[in-house]
Amino acid sequence: MQIRNISLLSHQGAGKTSLAEFMLFTSGTIQRLGKVEDGTTTSDYDPLEVDRHMGINLSLLPFEWQGMKLNLIDTPGYADFIGEVRSGLRVTEGAIIVVCAASGVEVGTEQMWSDAEKVNLPRLIFVNKMDRDNADFLSTLGGIQAKLSPRCLPIQLPIGSQSDFQGIIDLVTMKAYIGSASQESEIPAALREQAENSREKLVEAAVEADDELINKYLEGESLNNEEILTAIKKSTMSGKLVPVFVGSALKGIGIQQVLNGICYSLPSPEEKDSFIAKNVTTGNQEEIKPNSEAPLSCLVFKTSADPYVGKLSYFRVYSGAISSNFQVWNSNKNSMERIGQLFTMLGKNQQPMPQIAAGDIGAVARLNLTTTGDTLCSREHSLLFPGIEFPKANFSMAIQPQTKTDLDKMSTVLPKICEEDPSLQTHREPDTNEFIISGIGDNHLEITREKIRRKFGVELKLSLPKIPYKETITVSTKAEYKHKKQTGGHGQYGHVFLELEPLPRGGGFEFIEKIFGGAIPHNYIPSVEKGVNEAKQEGVLAGYPVVDMKTTLYDGSFHAVDSSDIAFKISGAQALKKGLSQGQPVLIEPIMNLTITVPEMYTGDITSDLNTRRGRVLGMNPGDGINVIQAQAPYAELLRYAIDLRSMTQGRGDFMMGFDHYEEVPVQLSQKIIADKNKAGKGD
Ligand code: GDP
Repeated sequence: MQIRNISLLSHQGAGKTSLAEFMLFTSGTIQRLGKVEDGTTTSDYDPLEVDRHMGINLSLLPFEWQGMKLNLIDTPGYADFIGEVRSGLRVTEGAIIVVCAASGVEVGTEQMWSDAEKVNLPRLIFVNKMDRDNADFLSTLGGIQAKLSPRCLPIQLPIGSQSDFQGIIDLVTMKAYIGSASQESEIPAALREQAENSREKLVEAAVEADDELINKYLEGESLNNEEILTAIKKSTMSGKLVPVFVGSALKGIGIQQVLNGICYSLPSPEEKDSFIAKNVTTGNQEEIKPNSEAPLSCLVFKTSADPYVGKLSYFRVYSGAISSNFQVWNSNKNSMERIGQLFTMLGKNQQPMPQIAAGDIGAVARLNLTTTGDTLCSREHSLLFPGIEFPKANFSMAIQPQTKTDLDKMSTVLPKICEEDPSLQTHREPDTNEFIISGIGDNHLEITREKIRRKFGVELKLSLPKIPYKETITVSTKAEYKHKKQTGGHGQYGHVFLELEPLPRGGGFEFIEKIFGGAIPHNYIPSVEKGVNEAKQEGVLAGYPVVDMKTTLYDGSFHAVDSSDIAFKISGAQALKKGLSQGQPVLIEPIMNLTITVPEMYTGDITSDLNTRRGRVLGMNPGDGINVIQAQAPYAELLRYAIDLRSMTQGRGDFMMGFDHYEEVPVQLSQKIIADKNKAGKGD
């Protein structure tokens, strides 16, 4: 059976899930039509999706149409879940971009378009919600052609609009199809001329991809429908044409036509250019053809963690076939992996399969060591597909477990969640001792927190991370401290002189001993150092660690009976504190390097925003409509930059951030930070 693997893409809420549901219904795969509002769709079954009425995970929806197997991958529309979209795009040969006829092209539509464009994915557009108030096909089409590409041409026209939306005109068959039953009839007279003009434009664009047909067309010969469809497929596959379909996923109008469109205009795995993998033995790149007789090669593109079923891995077979209860080679992990029962998934429902062959998509539970992006293959013919490129986890929050049990469980749950969603990362920040989770945006992390609560019963609180401020001195100073106590029997005696000198930024903390003539016996010097090291953990301004300073122990005295390790430790600590107060201490803060990539039109906005963040632009690299801005700014001003940049650039900006150096905090700000910290209690 021929296969079509298709990603369903759109801005959040344009109607992907509703369209997928109607497709399943039309194809007879489901007998009851679910509704997004009722939380009964096949695709959005996760309780989190049901509650929020939005897709968070990609879902695999296989069904048959016109004797072909369609693997539809419904992806989330919200920008925070773009990682799922990337996974879907990686394993499909075509895409449908759904656009709302009332809202037109939105930020998410452009984002999905550009993601599909980057991987040269042949695609169709479905203008949905023609039945809705304010639906306007021509203005939506104008937006599509202006904002996405003039290569997008209608292959259908709507009959009526909004409450009067009745059906569609197919510009290939030149027939009208009315209602959800798709009743064939003649084109209404009033629309005839418009249909003929649109058909001419479509045919003209389509034949351009076919030398033979273009000659025929230019010579004025008429082309039959089959020839037109062949030309449409060729031009769609080469990206020269993006056919625009129209309908309503709610009323079920235009569904059959777009299903047919998938079959006749998007490529099968065999028709797509071959896939490339690295042959591990020879080190050479190898062309992988979707041949079921060839050695096995599969890519795992999604892993989901379920507390009951365990781990579920979704994979796409590129060559050969994979069988249930079989051993395969994981070439990323250099290890054999046992495959249990294979499934195809319909939303959450698993249908057992004995075998899944080249070109097809399936799932398997409880793989031992396989993670998303891994290649599974035959051991004798070890191959490696390039991994899936996930978006950078640029937005971080600190995680606080709510109870001791939550803390204990956190260490096993977080790796599972990160495995399920490779656009998440976690680490412990040594400077602030916080556990940090990083993702794409606040929604992403909030939903992850909720997922952890629902799936694993672990309660976590999220807050913006603390800034790892530090303290240092700005002038050299000397400090003396004598610890002397006479309390009955044994007294305590320790006496030290320290010299404190600032070091350049990044100089760290040094302790040096220059005692002459045995002023302090050797065995007490480590105690002084210990005291100094403990005291430097909490500076005198706001309790932040002290860095970039050299401490020299240069003199002192001792008492033959009363001196002790503890007395010298106390003296060391107290002398350091005294010295820090005298050394005109300051707060220093981390400054980050930023590489910001934005469409040129946003350059002005980005640079003036950087000014308000105490940032400075170091350089610009404009080219091809895109500007790469190099800048530096304090970390404290960048905690929400991932979200702010997205809203400033309508989701089109991207950035990388890395620590560069520490710098003194401006006085006024510093006073505020010190006051806040002292109010909250030092050491917090
Ligand atoms: P998704 O986020 O792209 O998956 O969009 P959904 O399928 O969840 O749809 C978002 C909202 O639009 C839901 O309330 C749907 O009922 C509604 N909707 C979807 N398709 C249509 C349509 O063709 N007409 C109308 N009027 N509403 C629709």
